[in-house]
Amino acid sequence: MNSKALVIFASLFTSLSQAQNLPQVLSVPGGIAEIPVGALSEPAPQVFFQQHRVLVTHNDSEWLAIVGIPLETLPSRQEIELKTQDQTSHLSFQVAYKEYPAQYLTIKNKRMVNPEAEDQEKISADLKLINQAIQTWTEQDEIDTDFMAPVDGRLSGVFGSRRFFNNQAKNPHSGLDIAAPPGTPIKAPASAKVINTGHYYYNGNAVFLDHGQGLISGYFHMTEIKAKPGQVVAQGDIIGTVGATGRVTGPHLHWNIYLNGTKVDPALFIAKDLPRLEMRNHK
Ligand SMILES: [Zn+2]
Repeated sequence: MNSKALVIFASLFTSLSQAQNLPQVLSVPGGIAEIPVGALSEPAPQVFFQQHRVLVTHNDSEWLAIVGIPLETLPSRQEIELKTQDQTSHLSFQVAYKEYPAQYLTIKNKRMVNPEAEDQEKISADLKLINQAIQTWTEQDEIDTDFMAPVDGRLSGVFGSRRFFNNQAKNPHSGLDIAAPPGTPIKAPASAKVINTGHYYYNGNAVFLDHGQGLISGYFHMTEIKAKPGQVVAQGDIIGTVGATGRVTGPHLHWNIYLNGTKVDPALFIAKDLPRLEMRNHK
């Protein structure tokens, strides 16, 4: 191969690897920071944020740390830690302010707003399993971050809204809600492995997917679960159906995404699908 052909070959390879669709960057509480952490010609560093391993992927020339920023973070400078074979270093990044809207909801089942003692036991047991799922770390070189919307429906609730159930302040909304008729298929947004499935007090019938390197997604309130722990799924595979199990006001998918053990806005992963889902609110 002459040198000109080599250049053409190299640039073809570059454009192929650039096709990798990374989540939209929005360095705010509940958002995602993308931080270059070294040249692709060097080995990838291990990256940590608040003691949690961070996903490291790449573009055509650099390693990129994809950092999930906890919703409770105040606007401030934050730091990641980089570890290579022979040294530890730090890089800082800015977290900007974001105002999240308030949302008022009426829940008919009072026990879903003020659980009784026996419900508390179930809620605590659920939390243990959920925390275990979202702490999953799988070493995996290439991470499929090219997500599609898991349900073709109407955007009915945004991430981060400050929520009031029957006028009582509760935790902010931890995911994205997509409303659709009961039984509508819920599809894997990208390739993944099923971590677990279960029936939870607030989340109803749920599935957790492992996309590798701490990128986890959760699917709640399903009518039917159509996935098994350990199963490998491809983008578009049906993992369940839309329902109204757990704490809901109507049938919808509540979709969570976790990075480095923290919840981030799923909308950042489906920026190209979002206008289509949002438009259905105005018909
Ligand atoms: Zn929700």
